[in-house]
Amino acid sequence: MNNGLACQISFECFPPKTEAGLANFKTTALALSHYRPDFFSVTFGAGGSTRDGTFCTVNTLQQLTNMNIVPHLSCIGLTREQLATIVQQYQSMGVKRIVALRGDLPSGMGQSGEFQFASDLVKLIRDISGDYFHIDVAAYPEIHPQTRNVRDDILNLKRKCEAGADSAITQYFFNPDAYFYYLDDCARYGIAVPIVPGIMPITQFTKLSRFSNLCGAEIPLWIRKRLESFGDDIDAIYAFGLEVIYHLCERLIAGGAPGLHFYTLNKSTMITALLEALNVAPISNSLNAATIK
Ligand code: FAD
Repeated sequence: MNNGLACQISFECFPPKTEAGLANFKTTALALSHYRPDFFSVTFGAGGSTRDGTFCTVNTLQQLTNMNIVPHLSCIGLTREQLATIVQQYQSMGVKRIVALRGDLPSGMGQSGEFQFASDLVKLIRDISGDYFHIDVAAYPEIHPQTRNVRDDILNLKRKCEAGADSAITQYFFNPDAYFYYLDDCARYGIAVPIVPGIMPITQFTKLSRFSNLCGAEIPLWIRKRLESFGDDIDAIYAFGLEVIYHLCERLIAGGAPGLHFYTLNKSTMITALLEALNVAPISNSLNAATIK
């Protein structure tokens, strides 16, 4: 890593849906590329709902940043054949790394497909492309909402590693102890892959609260109460959010986290402020506004 931190950084984005969203996305990606990320990752809608969007966005980022671009791929709702075609397409595009997931089908959307779990997808990728891809999988320091207990959750990560995963990226969390206890548990079960914490910036409350309920991430009461009390004061939310996430990142780095994976939500302002607070200086490289078409 050459970003000035003791760990790598990576940025997760989603495929923009409108022309305006695309223009904003390019500006964001360009701004973030100056912080020397290990990679940008691009989310994938479960059941293939944003499949084309993911391809296009991977392409756009490859051309715009010349960096390592990592598509997410979720297996739920797709057939073995569809998944194999996608994997082969990525290989032919020079993609070297994939985040392999199960995904969640939106309610009312079709069949769950041939594969039930992310471990099946990891195995499929290994079966069709050997060691070509670096495979990341999801990990849950606060336990996946459909898992019964910590042990089952850790055993699931172990299954994904045994199927061939090289590393894991976590669901976001706001309590660093959740991550450190999780690492200890994983080590006890013989999981040796790097587990990179996912970092969610706090820039608003309502959506964050709704999403956290869905994905099982806890917003600690002391954070929740303050965010509620700020109401529509986005400046106050931003200042508080920046401070909270800065201290979280500091603790994670001090505790030896192998990386920080930022959920950018296609916005760069808080992420760049965080990185600069962490002493990651941007480089000005050959990319510039003229590159944005
Ligand atoms: P799995 O690892 O398959 O686990 C799902 C559930 O099944 C867990 O409860 C697990 O305990 C259980 N389970 C697994 N195997 C077995 C078994 N053999 N027997 C019994 N139970 C089992 N979603 C998207 O749609 N698109 C994305 O781009 C996306 N990106 C993500 C990126 C990250 C870093 C993370 C953390 C999540 C992302 N998600 C994405 C969300 C993810 O798809 C959901 O959390 C989903 O509910 C679980 O996916 P998984 O890959 O963890 O599934």
